[in-house]
Amino acid sequence: MQAYRKRITGSSKRWRRSSLELTHLVTIDGPTGCGKSTVAHLLAKSLRYHYLDTGAMYRAVALAIWRAGIELEDEGKIAKICNGLDIKFIHEGDSARIYLGDEDVTEAIREPTIDLTASTVSAIDRVRKVVTRLQRKIGSQGPLVAEGRDMGTVVFPEAQHKFYLDASLEVRVDRRFLERQKKGDSVSREKVKEDLIKRDHQDMTRRLSPLRPAKDAKMIDTTKLTPDQVVETIMRGMKAYS
Ligand code: C5P
Repeated sequence: MQAYRKRITGSSKRWRRSSLELTHLVTIDGPTGCGKSTVAHLLAKSLRYHYLDTGAMYRAVALAIWRAGIELEDEGKIAKICNGLDIKFIHEGDSARIYLGDEDVTEAIREPTIDLTASTVSAIDRVRKVVTRLQRKIGSQGPLVAEGRDMGTVVFPEAQHKFYLDASLEVRVDRRFLERQKKGDSVSREKVKEDLIKRDHQDMTRRLSPLRPAKDAKMIDTTKLTPDQVVETIMRGMKAYS
């Protein structure tokens, strides 16, 4: 897919896609460590669709709030930050970098301190409104694999192809632990497990857009599957509907 640079800004226009476009929209939701980012990326590459990492957007908002030193209870200041939010993805070949204003924050948003902050920040009404609007705007721009927590339930409920990935707790912890180790992080597996459970609990029990499968999502247990096997399963599921 051609390299392109796109600036994303808020729009008050209602989100609409034609039924043809809805068949070119794949949503993948699931908890931490279910493998959805790897799978969504591979799937987008195979289909030659763009890949939208919506967790990265909440992480970028969390980073902006954290850097500004705003208390997470201060919804007034958070709303102000959200109004001036300038998040954009720059796609180069297969990969996408995320920018906050002119700063590339792709690595900064992956810092472990942002994990839980993103989860807390994403439960705030104003944050979800602004980010959801941006996501729908991106969704209106072309074929997309959108990955997150509420893609099939709230952001793109009309999408034809919806998937919900899950895996056993221990396997999800192992995946996350390995990821942290690869980055040279000396965190213990127990701490990774504790953080993962806490984050999933927050994401599943919040009032707004809680993590749960859409009624019409196909469920895939990735515990014993490789990312390629999950992609194959999704592709088969999509063909069954085409
Ligand atoms: O997927 P990732 O771990 O990067 O997401 C970070 C956090 O952003 C999640 O824990 C969740 O709270 C939030 N999120 C969300 N809705 C999405 C994607 C992510 O609330 N669609």
